[in-house]
Amino acid sequence: MGFRMDIGRDGLHADVLVIGFGKGGKTAAAALGRLGSRVVVVERSDRMYGGTCPNVGCVPSKGLVHHSRRRRPEDAAQEFYEASVAKVQQVREFMRAGNYAGLNGIETVSVLTGRAVFLDPHTVAVETADGPVSVRADTILINTGSEPVVPDIPGLRGSRFAPSSTQMIESTRLPERLAIIGGGYLGLEFAAIYQRFGTRVTVLEAAPRIMAREDEDVADAAVAILAEEGIEFVTEARVVEIRDGEHEATVVYEQHGEKHTRTVDAVLPATGRMPATDGLGLDLAGVRTTENGAVEVDGHLRTSQPHIFALGDVNGGPQFTYISLDDSRIVLDQLIGKGERSTADRVAVPRTLFMTPPLATTGMTEKEARAAGHRLRIARQAVADIIAMPRAYAVEETRGLMKFVIDADTDQILGAALLSIDAQELINTVTLAMRHGITASELRESVYTHPSSTEAFNDVLGTIIRADG
Ligand SMILES: Cc1cc2nc3c(=O)[nH]c(=O)nc-3n(C[C@H](O)[C@H](O)[C@H](O)COP(=O)(O)OP(=O)(O)OC[C@H]3O[C@@H](n4cnc5c(N)ncnc54)[C@H](O)[C@@H]3O)c2cc1C
Repeated sequence: MGFRMDIGRDGLHADVLVIGFGKGGKTAAAALGRLGSRVVVVERSDRMYGGTCPNVGCVPSKGLVHHSRRRRPEDAAQEFYEASVAKVQQVREFMRAGNYAGLNGIETVSVLTGRAVFLDPHTVAVETADGPVSVRADTILINTGSEPVVPDIPGLRGSRFAPSSTQMIESTRLPERLAIIGGGYLGLEFAAIYQRFGTRVTVLEAAPRIMAREDEDVADAAVAILAEEGIEFVTEARVVEIRDGEHEATVVYEQHGEKHTRTVDAVLPATGRMPATDGLGLDLAGVRTTENGAVEVDGHLRTSQPHIFALGDVNGGPQFTYISLDDSRIVLDQLIGKGERSTADRVAVPRTLFMTPPLATTGMTEKEARAAGHRLRIARQAVADIIAMPRAYAVEETRGLMKFVIDADTDQILGAALLSIDAQELINTVTLAMRHGITASELRESVYTHPSSTEAFNDVLGTIIRADG
């Protein structure tokens, strides 16, 4: 234990207790610990030091994206997959150990392994391998993350063929046929990964369109790429039952009033994640939750108890690691700063769907900007047509498009959708421009390295395909 404090008869006393070893919690814990605060971080699983992202989320899934792209047609699917999972798990192990040592190694920080449950507003009970420990603290940060939503479909919860995304990532058996329920970001990312590893993937989506939130031109281009890779999309498909057989499962779905079936080796429910508040004893702490089960917070991430904060997925905000990180900045600003930062400061939050090439978006879509009453200029170009971006040709990835939504009156960028090589990096530049009021013309006229993907902005932003008024 890094925390040189005896566990007395009435348990541990700390200045700050962090429940859950997620991104926001560990960042705040390290910062406060380095300033000398006595911090206890409680993590329920010794497999999860560092939280979801490095263990079962972003990092392993992007590791699998990377390995799946490297598979050649002559590679035996099962063996290649098994080797890829092993490499990904090695990285996970490295990061898990590093996270533990990094935090527990701070003189005044201690990591306690066990599930925390509130006993009262200042105290939690932790069931550790060495028995129960109570921890009492002046300030408490809840950072318990989120859990997958498993829809109430007959046969799904008890099915032997319906792994969670975590189980998929950890399993070394490659399914030959995979049905994914839900065409959201996580579902599509997994679809792209497994199709490239050699699985036959079907995405079953209840809505009439995949990626319904995005503009149609962007969604159509992305779905066309995924379909071209061999992924089958079935829209307006409502899954009504999962029937387990001896070696496979049958997915029953309704489409246009008719029942259909698919026989598969695995069914992945990818229907979202909900805040992990169940069993935390929040009622004993006097911490209110929202209708969706998230911890209710204000713009400073303070809960209904002024000394308790909630960071990351558990507070119902956007479910991204970088948002959890930003949450830690807000909380630290409350605890040791000027108390000025708030969630309202976030101008545009970028996001990336790590398909190949990636789709990264920020700000408003065209339809959102129109609905908000802006007069618009729309700049859009297919990547293959962007002469100023030879990098796409050099690395043989010319698929996709870049689209900018620009306010016609102010020249401010309202949003962008980049379906292109390097989009996961480019989107951060666009977001920074939006945040700091850099106009579309300034972004177009800027000096960029060559050959790079950023220099595409020199071209695309000069290509106005639609203008209002
Ligand atoms: C497959 C997948 C891919 C993803 N890809 C991306 C991506 O590319 N980019 C991105 O930004 N985001 C991605 N995400 C989302 C991202 O992982 C989460 O938004 C982020 O990890 C949330 O972090 P957090 O700080 O809220 O808590 P988490 O990292 O979820 O940590 C919460 C921790 O609390 C622990 N815990 C829970 N309850 C208790 C309790 N009662 N007592 C003690 N400990 C407890 C849990 O074990 C867990 O370790 C992905 C998620 C998944 C599942």
